[in-house]
Amino acid sequence: MEATSKNIRNLTLNELEAFFQEQGEQRYRSRQVYDWLWKKNIRSFDQMTDLSLKVRDLLKQHFSLNAIEINSTQKSEDKTIKMSFRLFDGHIIEGVLIPSGNRMTACISSQVGCNLACKFCATGMIRYIRNLFFDEIFDQVAIINETALKEYGFPLSNIVYMGMGEPLLNYHNVLKSTEKISSEDGMGMSPQRVTVSTVGIAPMIRQLGNDKVRFNLALSLHSAIDEKRNQIIPYNLRNSLADLVDAVKYFHQQTHSRITIEYVMLKGFNDTITDARALATFCKNFPVKVNLIQYNPVENSPYEDSGKERTEAFKEFLDKLNMVVNIRRSRGKDIDAACGQLANKIINRKI
Ligand code: SAH
Repeated sequence: MEATSKNIRNLTLNELEAFFQEQGEQRYRSRQVYDWLWKKNIRSFDQMTDLSLKVRDLLKQHFSLNAIEINSTQKSEDKTIKMSFRLFDGHIIEGVLIPSGNRMTACISSQVGCNLACKFCATGMIRYIRNLFFDEIFDQVAIINETALKEYGFPLSNIVYMGMGEPLLNYHNVLKSTEKISSEDGMGMSPQRVTVSTVGIAPMIRQLGNDKVRFNLALSLHSAIDEKRNQIIPYNLRNSLADLVDAVKYFHQQTHSRITIEYVMLKGFNDTITDARALATFCKNFPVKVNLIQYNPVENSPYEDSGKERTEAFKEFLDKLNMVVNIRRSRGKDIDAACGQLANKIINRKI
């Protein structure tokens, strides 16, 4: 992709310094520019107001700045805010701000579309277009943070990679974005406040272990029985639950971190005591926290939410085994901002 070959945000501070030296400019300019890019999150060279017009022109001649732009904003009755963003090549992605209690959580996308085709997820029904670049992932966080401050007076406390796409199929950019979010050069946020969610790509989970990442890992399990998981998550045919157990065990050995298990409650499909027992067996392999997620209706999907009673019975079974289990209420449903509902309703449709 041509426009990004000279993307200024692909340069390290040292490379920027070298550039200014080559151009016969002062080296300290590089620090100024770097702060504009990563701390002040400007979206055009003209916003670098402490640089002379000449220096700004020099930058414009040599580099592009592929910042994302807000395309639309919708606010839910429950204060959740869904934003859609336009990328430099015109594609649209979505991100969500979820205020709850003393938390301000940003839910961000890692790909334009998704090719996993999970049967219960709206994003799975739109076509995969491309991976996001690391700076596009970072921009979502920066813009949602600005929105949190403006609308609610608080900065982000948590970031979850639970928007559109599969983060571990865009490994390099996702990792680089988490580094920028945590780095003092970027947002300076503790990696413990960042969660990357995956459908379960076994080799990449091992890679996370090798890279000794410090953020949290969430696994979208939804069934601990292969025949059932195959039906709702086609990717399970590529790596089975046994492969996943091995990979997550390895991840845990390397990082010592607890795994979050996400489990969408689908009435009559994965919510019986047999399912709960299988889940408990799966979870014996490493320390976990289980989130039981209310299913959000998605067009053309045959599933229905389990409802309060069945979900509580399921939880009770797991509670008795001393497992850590939470029931997650859905947020932003009225504006299609809830889990699995991000689908750019008009744009990017398959048909
Ligand atoms: N691809 C990654 C990141 C997406 S996270 C992953 O699979 O983890 C989005 C989370 O919402 C996942 O746990 C996903 O399984 C869940 N989800 C998808 N559709 C949903 C729906 N209709 N209702 C509730 N949760 C859903």
